[in-house]
Amino acid sequence: MQNLKLPITINPTRSAQRRLVCDGIFKLSEMTRLLAASEKRSEHVQVSVKFDVDERGLTVMSGTASTLVALTCQRCNEFFDHKLEVDFTFSPAKNAEAAEKIPSYYDVLELNNDGEVNLRELVEEELILVIPLIPRHEIEDCSATADSVWGELPTELDKPNPFDALKQLK
Ligand SMILES: [Zn+2]
Repeated sequence: MQNLKLPITINPTRSAQRRLVCDGIFKLSEMTRLLAASEKRSEHVQVSVKFDVDERGLTVMSGTASTLVALTCQRCNEFFDHKLEVDFTFSPAKNAEAAEKIPSYYDVLELNNDGEVNLRELVEEELILVIPLIPRHEIEDCSATADSVWGELPTELDKPNPFDALKQLK
């Protein structure tokens, strides 16, 4: 994949007429909302997006995006690297009326007044959506394994009660 910088905004309708295919990158540091929920582990977000017109004459924008971030494990509180990967298939609509005509196998994409879409924001939103709700290491990689968490509890309970010892002294 080439490391070309992608346009931030793009006109899907025009791009579809040209059957445009874009492979390129966005800077991960520019995706501040994504970085509010994760730590940067990669400089770039790799994006591949293709514009086409389907048999109904609808504009279709489909593609993939991926990047590497670190998330905080909710079990041990340590960071772990996590690859975020999405694929998407959108069909743009100018207004709500047009949106209703889009079949359900496409996600509706709202165009701005210039007939464009902010590709960077769109990719960022898609990546945020695939962050796990409760991020956790794989069990074998986690320092707080089930064994160490539950292993300590019985020993704690087995400790002799200091009041029992006092009773014996009396
Ligand atoms: Zn962990």
